[in-house]
Amino acid sequence: MRLLHNEKDEEAFEKAGKIIKNGGLVAFPTETVYGLGGDALRPESSLKIYAAKGRPSDNPLIVHIADPEALSLIADPVPEEAWMLAEAFWPGPLTMILKKTDKVPPETTGGLDTVAIREPDHPTALSFIRHAGGYIAAPSANLSGSPSPTEALHVIRDLSGRIDMILDDGKCRVGLESTIVDLSTERPVILRPGRITLEELKKLLPGVSLDPGLKSEDPDLRPKAPGMKYRHYAPKAELLIIRGSEQRVVERINALAEKDVREGRLPGILCVEETKNAYPSGVVLPVGSRQKGEEVANRLFGVLREFDERGVDRIYSEGFSEEGIYLAVSNRLLKAAGHKELWV
Ligand code: AMP
Ligand code: MG
Repeated sequence: MRLLHNEKDEEAFEKAGKIIKNGGLVAFPTETVYGLGGDALRPESSLKIYAAKGRPSDNPLIVHIADPEALSLIADPVPEEAWMLAEAFWPGPLTMILKKTDKVPPETTGGLDTVAIREPDHPTALSFIRHAGGYIAAPSANLSGSPSPTEALHVIRDLSGRIDMILDDGKCRVGLESTIVDLSTERPVILRPGRITLEELKKLLPGVSLDPGLKSEDPDLRPKAPGMKYRHYAPKAELLIIRGSEQRVVERINALAEKDVREGRLPGILCVEETKNAYPSGVVLPVGSRQKGEEVANRLFGVLREFDERGVDRIYSEGFSEEGIYLAVSNRLLKAAGHKELWV
């Protein structure tokens, strides 16, 4: 396994490209999270990705490209809106679902006749994709179910010994996975919220809506993105979200944390900068200022992993709104909590 610390390290890109062309796996940074890449057009590579992550094989992979024109080989038809969104948001944290061509093996798409495609906004990712033939299937580079990796160390912790190489280029700028929009159906639908918000997409696609399965625990209302139905992004400790007015949330979390301490458990508290001093006991980890949603989004997964490292037994999290980027933050947190929320 080789680490790259300098994005201009041409030799490392060439080596990474060769590994992919020979059917191997390379983890690489993107602006969202680290990806676990294999050749998207080779069935064996996609099977290897599922095996390395321990991911259910009905959960399709996103194909990463380095040039919007590459869409035409793997998707057909490419509707006008897809070119418009590519123009507006690529390279960037937006994934589009389109009907696939025969070039894309069913192993890459979990057997679906559609394919997820994105051009990441990261020079190391783009250079790697180009050296590797232009079509990289990549889910997040974590073990299935755990929080997505936002730095190379997280990838090493989860996947060391299971992959051939990591391109290390520091921390990810966005820190949450891409927004996924399905353009393969009559009306566009957001299957996963992310850094590109519903509000931003509505400006270009007035008819876009949120997949109702995203919020529901009802098994008849399954999310349309297969990956969104699993418990996901989850730390090892049980996580409970407490929602309501700030004062009541603080009081309830303190009561729960004090009970834990009395009974010999170590509680963790996920809060914002504004309230961090209101919690006298437990491991208190602020994710950022509530005024700065992008900062909160960026630090969420790292903080969830840190609770595990600190050995907490339970985590209590303050709740967040669903405005703008907070829709994505709340979605990841709710899934990490296995939908356990307490209103106070
Ligand atoms: P990850 O690779 O960890 O970012 O997860 C990729 C997400 O994209 C998962 O939630 C998948 O279920 C979703 N996805 C990938 N391809 C498709 C597709 N063709 N249709 C619907 N969802 C998809
Ligand atoms: Mg993932």
